[in-house]
Amino acid sequence: MKTLVINSGSSSIKYQLFNMEDESVLCSGVVERIGEEEGVLTHKINPDSDNAEKVVVKEYIADHTAGMSLFIDLICGGEKGVCKDKSEIGAVGHRVVHGGEEFHQPILINDAVIKGIEKMVPLAPLHNPANLDGITVARELFADVPHVAVFDTAYHQSIPEHAYMYALPYSLYEEMRVRRYGFHGTSHRFVAKETAALIGKKPEEANIITVHLGNGCSMTATKNGKAVDTSMGLTPLEGLVMGTRSGDLDPALHAFLGRNKGMGLEEVDTLLNKESGLKGMCGMNDMRDIHAAVEKGDKRAEMALAVQTYRNKKYIGSYMAVLGRVDAIVFTAGIGENDAIVRQKSLEGLEPLGVEIDEKANDARASEPMKISTDASRVQVWVVPTNEELAIARDTLAVVGE
Ligand code: ADP
Repeated sequence: MKTLVINSGSSSIKYQLFNMEDESVLCSGVVERIGEEEGVLTHKINPDSDNAEKVVVKEYIADHTAGMSLFIDLICGGEKGVCKDKSEIGAVGHRVVHGGEEFHQPILINDAVIKGIEKMVPLAPLHNPANLDGITVARELFADVPHVAVFDTAYHQSIPEHAYMYALPYSLYEEMRVRRYGFHGTSHRFVAKETAALIGKKPEEANIITVHLGNGCSMTATKNGKAVDTSMGLTPLEGLVMGTRSGDLDPALHAFLGRNKGMGLEEVDTLLNKESGLKGMCGMNDMRDIHAAVEKGDKRAEMALAVQTYRNKKYIGSYMAVLGRVDAIVFTAGIGENDAIVRQKSLEGLEPLGVEIDEKANDARASEPMKISTDASRVQVWVVPTNEELAIARDTLAVVGE
């Protein structure tokens, strides 16, 4: 069956069409700058093959309906279409950021599910409405096929109460469900499962720390195949140091900046989400630029790298304590998959805890999973590429039941 995966943002829509018989990507693309003067559609045909082709369309794209219609026309029929017509697409999977406490797994979308996703809007005011726009338009354009919602938070719903509750008045939880949710769940679940297979364990017997380091960064401890803790919280701001997000800090900072700098709550929120993290510390948020600056002797870039990797190590150590026995630590996403220096620094000094990196293996580059620990290392360390779209496509198929 051909399965379309859609990740709808406020002004963009990413998509991939899979042939689920062999899980190959037939085409993928992104519509950007929806509603702006000039929108862009970048469409790739057979992107993973030697004869990949790219089509770029630049024109005014009024809304999500216009954006989705544009790429569906390219997919179906026409000279370069990978489908004869729309009827070849058997299911549509949608990434949804926040499923709150209501959604623990992927679910077939109906009107009640839509209402449930709407209910979570206060928890993800930017993301859930944009995800809903994508779902609404796709349900109109593909009225006769099943649509499935796959939630970023769902994997973390197995986290126990003592790990998800904040030490706040209980009424805040009762009234507003203030608690840790965690994000990147589809990635953590996918990578933990792949890693279990790579180390020869059943998923339900594997204890794994998944380290997702991209623009957003998060870490999850998985015990016997279930998430038991994760670094992101009520929002994706908590935890690790990210490209532009601070991660953990003293919660009294808002009050301090309010009193002493006259900053408002929204202002501090923007500061912490958009102007902090690596960018805040050294002016750069792409790890490749930071390494280049470090090479040139930039002390602030060096500091930013040290602060990020130290935080990673602190979390890895705490999740080792949470899990007791750790079978594997696995790095994934843009930085995790490509950056040997970040991996090495994040694990530096953990030898007494049974973590021993093989420097040569760590320096290798591969688009396939690779083991980077020595054979003597008690805890295996792996690099496993994440593939959230494929995970969503698999989930969609599992829900649809084919
Ligand atoms: P997103 O969270 O947006 O999905 P990605 O997982 O694609 O992000 O990660 C993007 C980040 O990965 C970039 O900002 C960059 O810092 C980092 N990155 C990508 N390629 C490399 C590389 N070769 N070396 C180091 N860092 C890289």
